[in-house]
Amino acid sequence: MSSKPSSAGTTPAPADNAAAKPSNFLRHAIEQDLEQGTYAQRRWGGQPGDGPSHAAGMPDPAKVRMRFPPEPNGYLHIGHAKSIWLNFSLAKEYGGVCHLRFDDTNPEKEEQEYVDSIRDTVRWLGWDHHLADDPARPGVAQPHEYFASDYFDFMYRAAEYLVEAGLAYVDEQTPEEMRANRGDFGKPGTDSPFRTRTPAENLARLREMRDGQLPDGAAVLRAKIDMASPNINMRDPTLYRIRRATHHNTGDKWCIYPMYTFAHPIEDALEQITHSVCTLEFEDQRPFYDWLLQKLCEGGLLQSPPPHQYEFGRLNVGHVITSKRKLRQLVEEAHVNGWDDPRMPTLVGLRRRGYTAEALNLFAERSGVTKIGGAWTDYAALEAALRETLDPAVPRAMAVIEPLKLVIDNWADVFGSDTHVDPCQAPVHPHHPEMGQRHFNLGKEVWIERTDYEDVPPKGFFRLFPPQTAADGTVTPGSKVRLKYGYVIECTGAIKDEAGRAISVRATLIKDTKSGTPGADSVKVKGVITWVGAGDAKAAEFRLYDRLFTEEQPDAGGRDFLSVINPNSLTVEQGYVEPSLANAQPEERFQFERHGYFVADRHDHQPGAKLVFNRIAGLKDSWGK
Ligand code: ATP
Ligand code: MG
Repeated sequence: MSSKPSSAGTTPAPADNAAAKPSNFLRHAIEQDLEQGTYAQRRWGGQPGDGPSHAAGMPDPAKVRMRFPPEPNGYLHIGHAKSIWLNFSLAKEYGGVCHLRFDDTNPEKEEQEYVDSIRDTVRWLGWDHHLADDPARPGVAQPHEYFASDYFDFMYRAAEYLVEAGLAYVDEQTPEEMRANRGDFGKPGTDSPFRTRTPAENLARLREMRDGQLPDGAAVLRAKIDMASPNINMRDPTLYRIRRATHHNTGDKWCIYPMYTFAHPIEDALEQITHSVCTLEFEDQRPFYDWLLQKLCEGGLLQSPPPHQYEFGRLNVGHVITSKRKLRQLVEEAHVNGWDDPRMPTLVGLRRRGYTAEALNLFAERSGVTKIGGAWTDYAALEAALRETLDPAVPRAMAVIEPLKLVIDNWADVFGSDTHVDPCQAPVHPHHPEMGQRHFNLGKEVWIERTDYEDVPPKGFFRLFPPQTAADGTVTPGSKVRLKYGYVIECTGAIKDEAGRAISVRATLIKDTKSGTPGADSVKVKGVITWVGAGDAKAAEFRLYDRLFTEEQPDAGGRDFLSVINPNSLTVEQGYVEPSLANAQPEERFQFERHGYFVADRHDHQPGAKLVFNRIAGLKDSWGK
């Protein structure tokens, strides 16, 4: 299934007014909770904490609390942009806050580099203000940024509570025994022989685990629920494992670490999250999520009512891979030039490619929120969001990407001297006169696109071609074409190299045909071409990107995604831009007339020195099937 973008020009103005937005099941759930006052009695202790610490605080000033909980084990990708948009925008629209939580409970894979990049990317997407906007402390910059590893003490306390309440036990079966005794879809599991230990025995054993008296893997803590449950996730799930690993935040304090399924609900509850939104893979975990929080609320460890989990279908984008493991492989095996390679679907890659936060948020919004998994969104929808947001805003410019010299042989006859230059101008934006004019010169020699010239014109080709001699000897004149914002010229021929390739196109200028003068229309032309003057053009590098994979679903059906890498995903060209771009700043975006949308590269572009432009997208959809 694919969803097409709605037609151009219908982008609604961004409204914070929830009622103006198309509804979905998450909005319904939130609206219902607000109406019924489900969370209205809750209190907020000023920071994440247990039940009593919140109870001692003020009535929670945030009507809803949501969170975006990335694991800092890689760079964020386009799928995360959807999750970020969803959580932050819902919180904002319904008078709440959204926490940025680093889910760093796994000691092995997390790195500061990822934390920094994630934080930076969330801000870049436009949620900076919101992160810092704590209604509980007006005027105080208190970002709702939290680390799950700060909750390890509480998690352990919760584990001891469950043990004492007879709701958890230390299991010392081997991993193989545990797997065999779990059963499967058709077969109930078998109780562990350790399941009948008393709470006191379990508590002593758990403390031995914590104190490093058992080797890695020798025992786990499990919830005591139901080994015959039809939901395998309820068959005594593991809560803690022994793992001697240094954690980036807590160092060597712990040699036991909580499992994700145990940690995540607790993180939500300590932060007073109301609506915990995740992707559909977690649907089967929801019964345990509810079981755990209910038990901890009953024990007085957490404030009631606990958060509720909601699942939506993850975003899949055609021709794109979002698995962090596979993205890492692309980087480590040098199929791309790093995490921020403009072909990567990482948000740092998309940013470097030239995508704006506005376009990504619009795309996320349009991709919809459903309870159905497996939907694919066309890459064309992402480009459409980009075009719709850039078209009304960015300056126009002329660029010649694959240059070929054009020489106007009668220049001195018309202007008196070969060195004369004729000043030309063009609007910075056709619909925004207030953005002013660009200025550049037409001279005897200009750069044109190599593809704008043909020795023999194919059918329907209206750009430059020389006089043609038919089989019967009749000669038709060369084509007449307008140099955009300049004059009409007539093509007279081309000088070739030994291989027969044109090295300069020759033409004559037709007097009194300059754009914007009364005589401009005296000669009718079928073709208008873009150009830059050889005298004032600035040399520039163009990096032309195409899809990274040739298949819409690169890893479908277990296919090796590396086997469908597009060998032509990057073409580099050396050409020219008009002089108004000499001082373009990194990340400045333009529409190059006839070519598409380009951005000055964040890293390699140096204003006034080395101009490097990345193609973000063409002018029109080229993804049509
Ligand atoms: P991976 O499994 O590749 O490591 P992940 O999805 O586990 O990626 P997290 O850092 O755990 O990555 O994700 C943070 C949040 O982003 C989660 O709430 C997750 O559901 C959400 N998310 C990740 N991928 C997508 C996607 N394609 N569409 C929507 N939300 C997503
Ligand atoms: Mg994950």
